[in-house]
Amino acid sequence: MYLGGFILSRLVAPIEKSCSDASPLETMGFLLGRPVHLNDVGARRAFAKLPSELVDIGSPEKLVGSQVTYIENVITGPTDSTRSHVRFNSDVLARISYRIRTDPDYRGMFMIGWYHSHPGYGCFMSQTDENTQRNYFSKDYHLACVHDPVRREWGWFKLSQSTGRCVPVIPLCADTFEMWFDEQT
Ligand SMILES: [Zn+2]
Repeated sequence: MYLGGFILSRLVAPIEKSCSDASPLETMGFLLGRPVHLNDVGARRAFAKLPSELVDIGSPEKLVGSQVTYIENVITGPTDSTRSHVRFNSDVLARISYRIRTDPDYRGMFMIGWYHSHPGYGCFMSQTDENTQRNYFSKDYHLACVHDPVRREWGWFKLSQSTGRCVPVIPLCADTFEMWFDEQT
C-alpha cells in the first residue's frame, strides 16, 4: 500500500519562500529523497498522525511495510517563468543534477518529485502539469507539490498507475522521521 509523502517540517518554509518571492510569476524546484517502507515504529506514529479516513483500516500494524515517499531536501535554481508557466532551461537542469550527484548535502537522495507555484489561482494539476508528471515522474512514489503563495494553499499529487491521471495524496509533516523506516544499505 502507498500512503503518501512524508516531508520534514524544515522544508516547508523554503518552498513557501521561493514561491512567494517569485509571485506573481511561477517558480519550481525538485523534491529530493527516496521511497521507503514504514517499520513498526513508523506505522504507529503515522497511524496517530494521519487523517482518520485514511486509517479506517483499523490498526497501526496494517500500515507496517506501507510505502511512503520520504522528502529529505529540496533544490531549485533560476527559472524561466511567466504567471502561468515555469521551466528550467537545460543549463540550469544540468547544474542542478550535478549538485545532487556531488554535494554531500544530497548524498543518498534523488529526485522523487517536483514542486511549483500557482500564484493566486489555486492548487491543481493542469494538463501541462500532468504531462510533466507522466514524462518525468511516472513511478508510483513520485510526487508533485503545488503551492499557491497568494491563497496560502497546498496540493499534493501523484500519478495513478491505473488511470494515468494525477490524484491527490496525503502529505505528512514532522520534525524528524528518525526510526520510522529501517535504513537501507
Ligand atoms: Zn501548474
